[in-house]
Amino acid sequence: MKRIDIHAHAVAFPELTPRHRYTGERFLSAEELTSMYDRFGIERGVLLPIVSPEAQCFLMTPEGACTLSRQNPDRFSWFCNVDPRAVDHRPSSDLGYLLEHYKNLGAKGVGEVTANLYADDPKMENLFEACTALGLPVLIHIAPHEGGLYGIIDELNLPRIEKILKKYPDLTLIGHSQPFWSEISADNTDEIRNGYPKGKVTEGRIAALMREYPGLCCDLSAGSGCNALTRDPDYAAGFLTEFADRIYYGCDICASFNDHPARLNAFLDSLVQSCGISRETYEKICFRNAEQLLGLN
Ligand SMILES: [Zn+2]
Repeated sequence: MKRIDIHAHAVAFPELTPRHRYTGERFLSAEELTSMYDRFGIERGVLLPIVSPEAQCFLMTPEGACTLSRQNPDRFSWFCNVDPRAVDHRPSSDLGYLLEHYKNLGAKGVGEVTANLYADDPKMENLFEACTALGLPVLIHIAPHEGGLYGIIDELNLPRIEKILKKYPDLTLIGHSQPFWSEISADNTDEIRNGYPKGKVTEGRIAALMREYPGLCCDLSAGSGCNALTRDPDYAAGFLTEFADRIYYGCDICASFNDHPARLNAFLDSLVQSCGISRETYEKICFRNAEQLLGLN
């Protein structure tokens, strides 16, 4: 089965990359990542640079993602990334100048956006506006608050994300992270929204926002995407079926010990085998939507 990972990270200089200060792990090289892909049955990944200092102890550049993609054209596509505070730290900074440069080099989108600014901060809106103008989809990590973590900030029920979706109807916004996926259920609270809430889903904000705003898409990567589906397989089957055109298989592998892709694979495989979802839905989510987004077909 071919799968395309919408959410990949790899470092261009593994021998120079600092290790995580607590886990001792470091982000994978392209070789290490593709060998995990072979294990998980993944054909291709979308390399996402990380350019905001909140995110990690170091940065991953668009130039690195472009280089790794050119060295491994059968395994990687890439997004670029531009921090919303780049150029000259103003809401009127010309971010489009940089984005267009990377688009011309082959970038298919922007992300993972991890700046710890409010989703509707004028500098964030400046980035969303530039991406809309260039037709670049944006993959975002949503955070629950300012400080001590990374990601663009929104409150419970994602009112600021809704404001962005309303203001930029032509923007493709791909949601990711715990505070995004916990909104799959209406019983979300401030206490649990940055974790992995369990139990039956009562339809929540994600379905409502997806129905109202065609630009909103979902990234199934990481523990958050996997948990949102596996907590309630019956709800997941209906959700995946209704929004089959706007959900992307993803991994977010950050270390060699990550095994959550095996759980997501097993869950999606079991859903199609039990006829919870159709083969068509399964293929759209696993690779056809990504092929379309990346212009591969
Ligand atoms: Zn990530």
